Amino acid sequence: MELSQRIRNITPGGSDGWEVFYRARAMVAAGEPVIELTIGEHDIGTDPAILDAMCAAARAGHTGYAAVPGTPELRDAVAERLTARTGVKTARENVLITTGGQAALFAAHIAVADPGEAALFIDPYYTTYPGTIRGAGARAVPVAAHAEDGFQPRPEEIAAAARRHGARSLLINTPNNPTGVVYSRQTLEGIAEVARAHDMWLISDEVYDTQVWEGAHISPRALPDMAARTLVVGSMSKSHAMTGSRIGWLVGPAEAIAHLANLSTHTTYGVPGYIQDAAVFALRQGEAFEEKIAAPFRRRRDLAARLVAGQSTVRMVPAAGAMYVMLDIRATGISGRDFAERLLDEERIAVMPGESFGAAAAGHLRVALTRPDEELADALARLLALAERLAG
Ligand code: PMP
Repeated sequence: MELSQRIRNITPGGSDGWEVFYRARAMVAAGEPVIELTIGEHDIGTDPAILDAMCAAARAGHTGYAAVPGTPELRDAVAERLTARTGVKTARENVLITTGGQAALFAAHIAVADPGEAALFIDPYYTTYPGTIRGAGARAVPVAAHAEDGFQPRPEEIAAAARRHGARSLLINTPNNPTGVVYSRQTLEGIAEVARAHDMWLISDEVYDTQVWEGAHISPRALPDMAARTLVVGSMSKSHAMTGSRIGWLVGPAEAIAHLANLSTHTTYGVPGYIQDAAVFALRQGEAFEEKIAAPFRRRRDLAARLVAGQSTVRMVPAAGAMYVMLDIRATGISGRDFAERLLDEERIAVMPGESFGAAAAGHLRVALTRPDEELADALARLLALAERLAG
């Protein structure tokens, strides 16, 4: 039986960029020792105190259907968090609780674009972006950020794409996965200007907002006249090491959130109440807790920078945030994909090829800083040695 164009289009050509990751997982399942530096999964589990809160909530009976847009307590806690961090007054009505940031990304695109309308996103991008946009029925249009600009997007190129495609929205992500780059105030002001001039929604993926090593996280929702056209994607996955709990949010204008709650009613029917209670507990642990979760990634970024500084084949994209570093391996003469395949075959080390994150990241590798320091240092040393061998 024929399936819809829409679902077949999620991964046209059959590739979703996760091939090296799947192959590494299969090797691990077959008992082979592989150092996995692929996905953004912490090397610690969710804190036991959060699990206790989850268990206590379930035992106290919060196991039935929860309020579809989210529990009042969690929506209020998220609203308070955004008010405090951005200075933009945010209320319960501005918050929809979702099954992770991923579901928020999908819902946001359903909300802003009709079938076939263009939705812009910045390349390099988090691997799921184009498939998520296509799954929501919109036309996914990449706008390249360039390695020579330190991967800060150029507002004039976004404006050109907005004009050419009559785009309804622009999706950005800072701190950025895969590059580790944090957008400057100037970049964000330029982007906001383009969004206003072309009457576009801005979908701002801020799931790494607690992982900023230089400067401060700026939410574009806080820029002049942007709150009315910005949907912020947030998540507890990275900030609280709660990836498996699938808990996140979308924050935006109350009217948009009311419509988006309808979408939840007709798709997920909400998020488990005991997980939302655990999320409230986790948010109440405060900033010191979040800093503790983020600290290893900053330390490992520094470790990676030191190792890369000791050779001359591979260059590291200066990373100011998130849990990754991007390595420019163009001097080896082979693609990121071929390098990642060889690294897996020859060294049993799995990293993501830059090409998985779009054409703009070709010739790069994304290394997730998600293994203990010593193991990471060993893997990076072997990666750099392979690059030197290839460069001859
Ligand atoms: N956005 C970005 C940029 C991500 O890297 C991820 C996960 N790696 C997500 C969204 C989705 O995260 P989650 O669904 O776990 O909240």
